[in-house]
Amino acid sequence: MQYISTRGGMDPASFSDILLEGLAPDGGLVMPTHIPRLEQATIESWRELSYPALAREVIGVYWTDIPAEDLDRIVTAAYGDQFVSDDVVPRTQIGDHTWLLDLSQGPTLAFKDMAMQFLGEAIPYVLTQRGETLNILGATSGDTGSAAEHAFASKPNVAVFMLSPKGRMSAFQRAQMYSLTDENVHNIVVDGVFDDCQHMVKELNGDLTFKRANTLGTVNSINLGRLVAQCVYYFWAWLRATDEHPGSTSPIDVTVPSGNFGNIFSGQLARLMGLPIRRLVLATNENNVLDEFFRTGVYTPRSAQDTVATSSPSMDISKASNLERLIYLVLGSDPIKLSGAFSALDAAGTLDLSRYQSRLAEQFGMVSGASTHADRLTAIRQTWENAQVLIDPHTADGVTVAQAYRDDAVPMFVLETAKPEKFSDTVVEAIGRAPELSEELQDMLGREQHIVELRDNVEQLRDYIAEHAVR
Ligand SMILES: *Cc1c(COP(=O)(O)O)cnc(C)c1O
Repeated sequence: MQYISTRGGMDPASFSDILLEGLAPDGGLVMPTHIPRLEQATIESWRELSYPALAREVIGVYWTDIPAEDLDRIVTAAYGDQFVSDDVVPRTQIGDHTWLLDLSQGPTLAFKDMAMQFLGEAIPYVLTQRGETLNILGATSGDTGSAAEHAFASKPNVAVFMLSPKGRMSAFQRAQMYSLTDENVHNIVVDGVFDDCQHMVKELNGDLTFKRANTLGTVNSINLGRLVAQCVYYFWAWLRATDEHPGSTSPIDVTVPSGNFGNIFSGQLARLMGLPIRRLVLATNENNVLDEFFRTGVYTPRSAQDTVATSSPSMDISKASNLERLIYLVLGSDPIKLSGAFSALDAAGTLDLSRYQSRLAEQFGMVSGASTHADRLTAIRQTWENAQVLIDPHTADGVTVAQAYRDDAVPMFVLETAKPEKFSDTVVEAIGRAPELSEELQDMLGREQHIVELRDNVEQLRDYIAEHAVR
């Protein structure tokens, strides 16, 4: 399998090559040259597989340039004991024909672990084979940075330099990141806001000499390796939904709390591979740029100032980086049309694809909805009262929007993207008490923290990285 750019300006590359890349060199996003369609019998033959074995089969469709035994070792390590449940991804019924698919059993209690734990094995494997190193530089205000640190801690040939804004992270988020003691994890706390952190990262990435000398890279949300790893749990959900009727081809619906459009695009990939998914329901919060796109066919990214801070912060986005991949498919995988559309978007600030709108719903099965803070509180309270299951505010976005599309003929899966312990203030607001913390989490909150403090100063950051980068 070969990989190209949505904008047409990249030579075909292997999966191992593109694992180490963010944006394609022409500013586009990486896509497979074609999306393979699986036989229903092939999917059926995966029914008895464990989660890691299923991951080997699904990821193996895309990662074709390494030996099968090596991929097997990678997924076995990625989806092992660090996930609390033996199933890795358990499901819980919360209502009539409605289940949560629990993607938050990993070390940082959020779904980012599903992809990051895979990259934490896959990237060091490629680096070791090639005799290369990678210094991951990123900025975080929460889940992504934490998942990356936990995935790459103590892995060979990699270091992580993660910038976070001073005084802007919750006590839980701080403890989860700053209590790591691994020498290759650098928590750099910046006296500034998240935008200052991002700005510093951009500036160093723009300095190509420095970037090359220190082998800087990222594992951001547009990395195709992450999307491929996330495909696996859609297959898992469908297989478990049909376990009582093997051989059946009845579909499921899936609701996805969405931000950068990564998680739900993985579901679209699975659907295009032939997995029986009827609808992919996209849920947003008050930052509803994507809900607006699916309702009207018009995509109008917001400015950072127009993005509001909500109680489901990991979905507070102004533009959705991975949407370019869907638009590429909608435009018939034509890089010329896609480049034209994105130039028009850059010039006008908006992209009118309303003439393709019926195609989004019919051919791609995509529909959407949005929730408010009050909706999320209601969803948390009702799920607690009706099913004795405590959900977090992101999952509550999904539960709210799923209700509008639920139908007795097709089972609905809502993706649980984080654990309520991470967002206990909102839980208290909803049900009057905080989620109980396990002994392990209490212990984490009390542990000593390790940080490096920098002023909002790129020179200091440059010196720090030059001194501590792996070579
Ligand atoms: C990242 C994240 C999301 C949004 O996922 P995308 O892939 O960016 O759409 C939703 N919920 C939680 C808890 C997250 O961390």
